[in-house]
Amino acid sequence: MMGPPAAGLGQPIRKDERSLMPASRADGYRHVLPHRDVEGAAVRVTYLGHATVLIEVDGVRVLTDPLLRRRIGPLVRLVPLADVPVTGIDAVLISHLHFDHCDLPSLAALGRDTHVIVPIGAGPFLRGHGFRHVTELAWGGSTLVGAVEVTATEAVHDGRRLMVGPRVDAAGFVLTGTSGEAVYFAGDTNLFPGMATLPGVRDEVAVALLPVWGWGPNLGPGHLDPARAVEAAARIRPRHAMPIHAGTYYPVGLRRVYPRNIVEPPADFATGVSARALPTEVVVPQPGTVLVT
Ligand SMILES: [Zn+2]
Repeated sequence: MMGPPAAGLGQPIRKDERSLMPASRADGYRHVLPHRDVEGAAVRVTYLGHATVLIEVDGVRVLTDPLLRRRIGPLVRLVPLADVPVTGIDAVLISHLHFDHCDLPSLAALGRDTHVIVPIGAGPFLRGHGFRHVTELAWGGSTLVGAVEVTATEAVHDGRRLMVGPRVDAAGFVLTGTSGEAVYFAGDTNLFPGMATLPGVRDEVAVALLPVWGWGPNLGPGHLDPARAVEAAARIRPRHAMPIHAGTYYPVGLRRVYPRNIVEPPADFATGVSARALPTEVVVPQPGTVLVT
């Protein structure tokens, strides 16, 4: 069920609000504001950092992989938390159980009655931590959140919670509104053939949220780097793509030693999409960036 919209987020953006959005930063992020008339927009996406995105479709508010802390284990947050209220959330999507995607303190802050949608097999883990409204989806399975259809997609990523947690497949999700507008949240994944025909997509993907890196100087298997994320965009051919999962968290002490992969992957992704002449507008976000289709 829908909760009450938070002030300023459940409504269409007024033009005079754009001036409140963060300005470009000197740390390498390019901040792109939507240029279209945003009154009555069906889809609105607000980037909060790492894989945390507030997706609003037809007024339904869905939060992905909430990670809203300044420090998590050895990782420190490099960029400020966005000044965006995360109240009135209708559902949370958890792509897999890794610590930077399924953060129990961030989830608990949202409330243990929050509707949490997880890959099949992850339900007992969430329920065991006191979350009372958990829906498990297999790849291709779907559920309704208000009038919005949420469909789980394949993801090629070892979703096991290290070191002793349950072994659970990862998933991505497609949100489809009543008008057919679709938002794809890839979670953590490598390329897979079915990216070109994602379940839940009726027409085209309005916004693809694609990971382009991770949280450290190196990237393990089961991820998209900028080049593979460009190939993902070529398969999905979304109208908009937002590179995520880079530049928000980094291991303590490595920021100055290995700075390259903090800021460059999103920019490399944007450059790569341009070079392929895809029908995709890339919005490189920083926390607080809003994309309206
Ligand atoms: Zn992961």
